[in-house]
Amino acid sequence: MPTRTIIFDLGGVLVRICRTWEEACAIAGVEVRDPDRFRNPTLAQRRKHFHHLHQTGQIACKAYFNAIAESTAGLYTPDEVRRVHNAWTRNDYPGVSALITRLREAGKRTACLSNTNHSHWTILQQGQGREHPPSSALLRLDIRLASHIMGLAKPDAKIYLAAEQSLAADPADIVFFDDLAENIAAARARGWTAHLIDHADATAAQIESHLTAAGIL
Ligand SMILES: [Mg+2]
Repeated sequence: MPTRTIIFDLGGVLVRICRTWEEACAIAGVEVRDPDRFRNPTLAQRRKHFHHLHQTGQIACKAYFNAIAESTAGLYTPDEVRRVHNAWTRNDYPGVSALITRLREAGKRTACLSNTNHSHWTILQQGQGREHPPSSALLRLDIRLASHIMGLAKPDAKIYLAAEQSLAADPADIVFFDDLAENIAAARARGWTAHLIDHADATAAQIESHLTAAGIL
């Protein structure tokens, strides 16, 4: 029996995250200003571009906050962007940390493959203030792979190949969980067994049922 490697996405699978700018503003205590102007397609496209540079480690956090603030046409300052950005990741989903412990005890290898950035990565591993402890699920994983360190992001096929090489894992022995359909499709194209998780529902139960059905747990 080969060693199975179980790879998790973080946001929406192990860790709750904000799904909208407005939601993160509310947590950060930053007022939402002129949503119509904010959603202007040219500005949104610019923000998407800088978001990609940030999550692939091509720009530092400070430059990212400045660039995003500029791409809101003055609606938000760089410091407000930083506060909203740092409010994005929330706590672990219930039960996921215990599930990872069970997998490790069953002799499975566990890892994450996350599109993330230096700020979120630091907050998830070290916590932020009293209300935001570190992600115990993340800290329990055997191997932690992050887009900004790898210089690649899902769903680029290259990041899946790089993950296989980092993990020295055969694609056929990998089981992967993610909450975005395009990331699942790209993983399947590499020959991984991949399951789409619904971030709005209890994620541990969904993961467990796939692992049980496959005889892994
Ligand atoms: Mg996700």
